[in-house]
Amino acid sequence: MEIQTSGDAANCWLYEVIRVAIRDDYCMKSYCTTCGSMSFREALATAASDQTGTKFSVHITLPFARLLMIQLMMLREPVPDRPDWTRAVMFILLQVWYAQNDLCNRQLWPMLGDSWVNQVLKTMQDHYKWVCEETARRQAYDHPVQVLLRRDAKRRAGQKAHALRQASKKPRPTDFNEQSGT
Ligand SMILES: [Zn+2]
Repeated sequence: MEIQTSGDAANCWLYEVIRVAIRDDYCMKSYCTTCGSMSFREALATAASDQTGTKFSVHITLPFARLLMIQLMMLREPVPDRPDWTRAVMFILLQVWYAQNDLCNRQLWPMLGDSWVNQVLKTMQDHYKWVCEETARRQAYDHPVQVLLRRDAKRRAGQKAHALRQASKKPRPTDFNEQSGT
């Protein structure tokens, strides 16, 4: 299978790691409860260690994250309809995000420059923003106070409707309750 994604062949070792991960169908599910995506994460750490002579573990430290950013920046745009490459890149970006959080926006993401991976990141950020907004909306809707307020409003609307029905009811001679009760 010809994959046209390429990096700077001499310097981009991440290209080969991702190629093998896709070929061998490594798990790229974030927070995978079965395997913790260990194959891919270990492959990244091993390649980074081999290439730099520094020992890296699966935990993405800041130097490891910086290294990954440089590698990601070098990945060229894959051919269209290669969602597995996008998925692999998204996985790496998420791992970096989980490990480095605040430093991502300030230090790491800017390293991606105008690369293809930066476009992938933008897509993720747009989606993430939408998810956050949606979650906030839902949480506000499900907030106990809001639930009580809605219930109360519903109850009052019901009472009002009931009162209106009662007021519009004309007493009928045969309606015993209506005459004697209220
Ligand atoms: Zn898994």
